[in-house]
Amino acid sequence: MMPQTSRRVLVANWKMNKTCVQAIDFLEAFIPQLPSLPTDVEIVIAAPFTALAAMRGRLGVDHRIKLGAQNVHPQPSGAYTGEISIPMLQELGVTHVIVGHSERRLYSHETDADINAKTRVLLAADLTPIVAVGESSDERDASHTIDRVVSQTRGALYGLIPDAVARTILAYEPIWAIGTGRNCAVADAAAAMAAIRGAVDGLAEVPILYGGSMKPENVREYLAARDINGGLVGGAALAPESFAEMIRHAA
Ligand code: PEP
Repeated sequence: MMPQTSRRVLVANWKMNKTCVQAIDFLEAFIPQLPSLPTDVEIVIAAPFTALAAMRGRLGVDHRIKLGAQNVHPQPSGAYTGEISIPMLQELGVTHVIVGHSERRLYSHETDADINAKTRVLLAADLTPIVAVGESSDERDASHTIDRVVSQTRGALYGLIPDAVARTILAYEPIWAIGTGRNCAVADAAAAMAAIRGAVDGLAEVPILYGGSMKPENVREYLAARDINGGLVGGAALAPESFAEMIRHAA
């Protein structure tokens, strides 16, 4: 069966890895591989804030590699020490922002309401939110996976009209599979992602990415499933060869 969208999107989430020099080293090794990679896979690198300006300098404008951030503050400016605003990201040509990553939900206590506020301002600014949802291992054991991801999706997209919802990207990331090497079975991931797609009007054509120990060896298997349109990739996107290999398998 064909996916509901033919879009293919691979997002590198570098987390708190890579200095400016290391980010540029990655690009120097990765960019020469682009001509050999399928052109229909959208490529986003969500880098640390501190590397974004140097990366934009290396990429120039309108590059095939889109720059992403890993967080944003919903206010445009003000007394929010340590935060980064949308205008600051726009000035660097950032087009995508991950919101609701489980590490931010856990360590920074972000709620569905916070994630909804960020999603709204990003869409208002014409940036693409990559909204991450996913259940914990306890929730999975208690058979609450579907309830959990549906409620997180509805919380993140609360109050948005379907046309706005259609401009997002969703990511299903079972928390117990992130950075652990434990993969979610493709059928389980696809079932959760089908539930996410049905949670809110407007998601029918939205790319829904799988995240959780995705790597070159398993990307093809995930992307063969109808509801899986790409990946949000942590560890395996840190090395240029491995990220390029994943893009090669993603077409
Ligand atoms: C992530 O950071 O969103 C992620 C899925 O990490 P990993 O690929 O390392 O599991």
